[in-house]
Amino acid sequence: MADFPSLSGSEIRDKFLKFYESRQHKILPSASLIPEDPTVMLTIAGMLPFKPIFLGQRQAPQPRATTSQKCVRTNDIENVGRTARHHTFFEMLGNFSFGDYFKEKAIAWAWELSTQVYQLPAERVVVSVFKEDDEAFAIWRDKIGIPEHRIQRMGEEDNFWKSGITGPCGPCSELYYDFNPELGDEKIDLEDDSRFIEFYNLVFMQYNRDADGNLTPLENKNIDTGLGLERMAQILQQVTNNYETDLIFPILKTAADLAGIDYPKADEKTKTSLKVIGDHVRAVVHLIADGVSASNVGRGYILRRLIRRVVRHGKSIGIYGRDAKFRVFTPIVAETAIALSESAYPNVREREEFIKNQLQTEESQFLKTLDRGEKLLAEIIANTANLSQKQISGVDAFTLYDTYGFPLELTQEIAEEQGLTVDVEGFEAEMEQQRIRARGSHETIDLTVQGSIDKLAEQIHPTEFSGYTNLQDTVQVKALLVEGKTVEIAEAGTPIQLILDSTPFYAESGGQIGDKGYLSGDNVLIRIEDVQKESGFFVHYGKIDRGTVNVGDVVNATIDRACRRRVQANHTATHLLQAALKQVVDDSVSQAGSLVSFDRLRFDFNSPRALTLEDLQQVEDLVNTWISEAHQADVEIMPLEEAKAKGATAMFGEKYADNVRVIDFPGVSMELCGGTHVSNTAEIGAFKIISEIGISSGVRRIEAVAGAAILDYLDVRDKVVKELSDKFKVKPEEIGDRVSNLQAELRSTQKELEAAKQELALAKSDSLLSQAETVGDYKILVANMGEMDAKSLQSAAEKLQQKLGEAAVVIASIPSEGKVSLVAAFSPKVIKEKQLQAGKFIGGIAKICGGGGGGRPNLAQAGGRDASKLAEALDTAKQKLIEGLT
Ligand code: ATP
Ligand code: MG
Repeated sequence: MADFPSLSGSEIRDKFLKFYESRQHKILPSASLIPEDPTVMLTIAGMLPFKPIFLGQRQAPQPRATTSQKCVRTNDIENVGRTARHHTFFEMLGNFSFGDYFKEKAIAWAWELSTQVYQLPAERVVVSVFKEDDEAFAIWRDKIGIPEHRIQRMGEEDNFWKSGITGPCGPCSELYYDFNPELGDEKIDLEDDSRFIEFYNLVFMQYNRDADGNLTPLENKNIDTGLGLERMAQILQQVTNNYETDLIFPILKTAADLAGIDYPKADEKTKTSLKVIGDHVRAVVHLIADGVSASNVGRGYILRRLIRRVVRHGKSIGIYGRDAKFRVFTPIVAETAIALSESAYPNVREREEFIKNQLQTEESQFLKTLDRGEKLLAEIIANTANLSQKQISGVDAFTLYDTYGFPLELTQEIAEEQGLTVDVEGFEAEMEQQRIRARGSHETIDLTVQGSIDKLAEQIHPTEFSGYTNLQDTVQVKALLVEGKTVEIAEAGTPIQLILDSTPFYAESGGQIGDKGYLSGDNVLIRIEDVQKESGFFVHYGKIDRGTVNVGDVVNATIDRACRRRVQANHTATHLLQAALKQVVDDSVSQAGSLVSFDRLRFDFNSPRALTLEDLQQVEDLVNTWISEAHQADVEIMPLEEAKAKGATAMFGEKYADNVRVIDFPGVSMELCGGTHVSNTAEIGAFKIISEIGISSGVRRIEAVAGAAILDYLDVRDKVVKELSDKFKVKPEEIGDRVSNLQAELRSTQKELEAAKQELALAKSDSLLSQAETVGDYKILVANMGEMDAKSLQSAAEKLQQKLGEAAVVIASIPSEGKVSLVAAFSPKVIKEKQLQAGKFIGGIAKICGGGGGGRPNLAQAGGRDASKLAEALDTAKQKLIEGLT
């Protein structure tokens, strides 16, 4: 046992931040797991929030910073529980220099922190450098005094950091802890993770790589580092893996208790399952707290996958059915994770109810899915048993795994009991495909400077927005872009993007779409169709109707007032809608997304339950009451903390600046919002809900209209009603009854038709009885019944066989063009004494018609797609029956 004091996880975190704070680093809060950066799905490293600074797109607010950044790395998912050191969710402690200190200080401080603050014995730390980085090697050897043989030179793969083909890059240096220094310094292999663990990585961002691969030194060199909190906890708490530290073990313990397992005595497989649960539950809790909702795409899919893995591992350690007190266990285990995160991440406790509700829903839904998976497996087995090769295909096994959460081993076990095998190679191939899909391009950070707009950021100021108060303004053209490239002048007819010094046009954001309008000058008129925000600019998308425009021109910018009035009626109505939902449904209702346009609004929200018609009516009434009460808007900019203290609703998971804009209709609704609004609710006029649906588990969507848009909506509806009442020749209020009557008529006509068809089928089949031939002790009958639906065909076959006694009947029909139906009905003696089975028999015959199928030995149905082969198929059937029955 090494000799140094044990530290708790939060002590390790505090000491790191304090150490760098006392070296002039500003402590910044952890950014959300949902990054601002669109090129990555989740925050995967401490440097990600600083990417625009490293790229030179944004000024560093201070030269040095230090953070404890929550990260999620899904590419490590398969390692969780298997290696001692990998998590999906982990915290990366980092110190950053933006063109300030560089290699020498970074190394010296990393060393001081490791050996003085954390008190790791110097002889237990081994370091690596990039093989060509003699400078770093020399610092470690000469300034720090590490013996040469404990400084390992590593290749580009491990120790050279780059984010893309071009852009900033540089060598790294890593610090490793040695669990077994007694093994000596001769055979140091840093890849051997039973002896070494990497805990700190220092990245020296010192070059820029151009498109030809040339490296040129950066003028402002940067430092980016990462120290794994969980790994340092493992080292300092002297446990054998990250999961047994105070950061995670209580979660494992909760799960173990629920399953009645004594962790230290458990076998390795059980321990791995508990570790997976411990790891994933942390990730899940933080992801939901940061605003991710389970779904089938993107981040939502990552979350869903993690929850499902937790459920599966829970199932495999026997958590279910042990205690009648719980049907789902994830909310119980989540409680422990929430408690552990409380001090460092208070947002998690704030979202407690929401997190638990979401887990509750996801877990119960997945348990049902698992149930269905078991049934599907039974079907697959039944079908496979009919095939000559008794093997479940890789694709089937993978579907079971991926969609139904069936581990391969489980499929194999059940298959084996039925005398079947599983195509493991095929399964692995599918799995690999999925891994490639999942990795995609999302796990690397792209620091490549691209596009002209980014470059403009170095030359001109971000656009000022004057449109809260001005609907018209005199502005100057700062830049013109045609097809993405900057130009000095553009002429009539050209689609164009304009950047102005300031603008009254609202750019799409916060769900509200951009303004439309005109730019006009002495000899130019430009129609603006849309405005988008990019790199701090409002980019006006337009078309030059006449004249020419030059960079530097001063023009008149006028927005379309009617459109603006419509959009702000819809936007304020969205706020009122949210407030009404909180009152009518539940206070926990929160926005999950929204779209505010000229003709309607769409509001997605997290809701503990589905809404009834009554709820919707109440919500609509409440909003209309507020509209008629004519509440005055009170718009104010204030510090975020103050807004929160006043109880303003914030969009969850959204990042806000230090100062926020608060839209307050006192006593009704108070929200943080950058959008444009009516100054009095009376301006909205009226509000109407059009639809309400569930869009994913726990998330619902309301579409509605407000303001002038209601007239458009009514117009369209009115036309539909008029047309229907014309067609049905009834008054509008009688349409409902008329349709019900027609439906009832249709149903009874359909029934009559069915009955007639069956009768016809029986009549047809009776006439066939005389065609039956005798083969030995049996009658056989093979015939084509022409156009007959599959159901009638089956009952005809059964009847014919019963009437013929010991017999084999094979009949076919062509229910619709290009389709073939085949049915075989065999009597008991045919099956027993002649070993002919209807299922197998008809499957073979259907193949001739390009199809397949099967069923029971006495009665089976099959189909095909090639009707031209039917005669041949029936001939073969007859031949085979004669052979089989003589
Ligand atoms: P490894 O080779 O062990 O996967 P890495 O090279 O991917 O580590 P970096 O990207 O350099 O790690 O991240 C910096 C630090 O963050 C690492 O030194 C480690 O302490 C920590 N870290 C990285 N990935 C994980 C993970 N999946 N779980 C826990 N800690 C991690
Ligand atoms: Mg890694």
